[in-house]
Amino acid sequence: MIQVQSLNHTFKIGKKGKEKKIEVLKDIDFEIQQGEIVSIVGKSGSGKSTLLQVIAGFMKPDSGSIKVNNTEIAQFNEKQSAAFRLSHFGFIFQNFQLLPNQNVFENVELPLKIKGVQAPIRKIMADKILSKVGLLEFADHYPNELSGGQQQRVSIARAMITNPPIILADEPTGSLDSQTEKEILELILKLNQTENITFMIITHDEEVAQIAHRKLRMHDGQLLGEKNYVI
Ligand code: ADP
Ligand code: MG
Repeated sequence: MIQVQSLNHTFKIGKKGKEKKIEVLKDIDFEIQQGEIVSIVGKSGSGKSTLLQVIAGFMKPDSGSIKVNNTEIAQFNEKQSAAFRLSHFGFIFQNFQLLPNQNVFENVELPLKIKGVQAPIRKIMADKILSKVGLLEFADHYPNELSGGQQQRVSIARAMITNPPIILADEPTGSLDSQTEKEILELILKLNQTENITFMIITHDEEVAQIAHRKLRMHDGQLLGEKNYVI
């Protein structure tokens, strides 16, 4: 489903003329198959979030190939990336990224609105997904009236509503206590099994990484495969 080959990315920092280059992604190669949960685990600063942002098309890599369902997306322009994201990726972030002035239902239906789906269909789909994540009765609540775990469930519902083949999760339990973390990880496992959603989970937490079918380790911008997992 995702094939990444020889992916490189560099950030330039500092003033013009005195720029310093930081190589953040160094020759990254990996694949994710349909239906897999793959975790990418590594210390803070190892380049995990950059990898996710580049795959999602928020940043263009310096070089390399990213194929999703055999479409080469690495050099898409902003408009192409945005359209591709909407139809292929759902996102879960550490800080939920819900809109504070929109209620649960409105947050969840938003991707469908952007896609131009009509209101009655949005209502049917959002209700269905909200019941899958156990939040139908909270549809008219606002994010600040919910616990962290509930907010993350809302963001998972929002990530799923367009039926994306893959969900990219960046530290999905990073803001949650350990009991809530467990619940969210169980929900991810359930959605993987029942909805066949593929997950790429980025985390610095070895325990979170354990839920994956396959673990890859990010170390100083390099991705180490399963054979080299223990370093
Ligand atoms: P992780 O998610 O593993 O903690 P990141 O991908 O966020 O790591 O960051 C990897 C490295 O790239 C860090 O050294 C970070 O400081 C640097 N970095 C991240 N984003 C930028 C940016 N926009 N500009 C310059 N350097 C950045
Ligand atoms: Mg990060």
